[in-house]
Amino acid sequence: MARIVISEFMDERAVAQLEAAHDVLYDPKLVGDAARLRAEAATADALVVRNLTQVRGELLAALTRCKVVGRLGVGLDNIDVPACEAKGMKVIPATGANALSVAEYVIASTMLLLRGAFASSAAVASGEWPRAALGNGRETAGQVLGIIGFGSIGQMTARLAQGLGMQVIAYDAMLPPGAAVFAQTGVRQSGLDELIAGADAITLHVPLVDSTRGLFNTARIAQMKKGAVLINTSRGHIVDIEAAAAALKAGRLGGAAVDVFDVEPLPASASLRDCPNLLLTPHISGVSAQSNERVSFMIADKILESLS
Ligand code: NAD
Repeated sequence: MARIVISEFMDERAVAQLEAAHDVLYDPKLVGDAARLRAEAATADALVVRNLTQVRGELLAALTRCKVVGRLGVGLDNIDVPACEAKGMKVIPATGANALSVAEYVIASTMLLLRGAFASSAAVASGEWPRAALGNGRETAGQVLGIIGFGSIGQMTARLAQGLGMQVIAYDAMLPPGAAVFAQTGVRQSGLDELIAGADAITLHVPLVDSTRGLFNTARIAQMKKGAVLINTSRGHIVDIEAAAAALKAGRLGGAAVDVFDVEPLPASASLRDCPNLLLTPHISGVSAQSNERVSFMIADKILESLS
């Protein structure tokens, strides 16, 4: 029987599947107690994390008998993968299991922001009738969606957007000109500058790596079409949120939805609190009832396989 330590939330039926075969410590709050996490890690044959547990430095050093790290999600920026592999540990992400949840979040927020008519509840309930002010919202069909990063989530988002009649263009730094995936999906391959200047909505689906850190800075946001909307579900450090807030306040950016932040939980921020047309969510785009189940069972199955 192996010992499995789970330091963040996981579907409880998937936890039970692990418990049926192994000694499991499941504590979704463990990530918040670094000393106890290190102590438990020292006894772990397998560690299961989400995105908050930083598998590097002291925690990595404490993992002296661990064989496998399961990641309940896909971004691996919280795990020092080369260092894990150097210690003989396998790192297993839940590839593809939350792509649909993220893609639906992107489409929903794109539609909300382009139409701009859904923030009127308080006004309407208090007897106001802002019909004239809200009559210029945009239909989604016919708008150009620019996707940066055309992997699993980017492609799923393209499919949903095409179903709504959007024109979809995509840029991916790792795909050569004419890569087959563009013809297969009916998406036009674009250069980065052309995409930024031409899209009515831009959504980011790249991993956080050196080449994407700071990708959407003040200069790139300034290149966007006036009134375009920006959706970031990738990672905080990829978009400069203060630059996006300034562009929203100046009326250059038509709206933004932001799910991921440089520091999570996001510390209170006055500049974001009074920012117009800004949707903020707590790193939830990939987490839904169905995706949590898919992600958790995928990782439970792979952990069981690795330990057998
Ligand atoms: P993926 O690996 O399938 O796709 C990523 C794509 O980005 C690849 O096609 C890759 O070639 C491309 N890419 C890499 N560097 C690039 C660059 N510099 N410029 C443009 N493209 C580049 O990953 P995925 O499953 O689509 O997930 C993408 C990212 O979304 C994850 O790394 C993670 O950080 C984030 N994510 C967030 C949530 C959430 O809940 N907010 C959930 C899932 C994933």
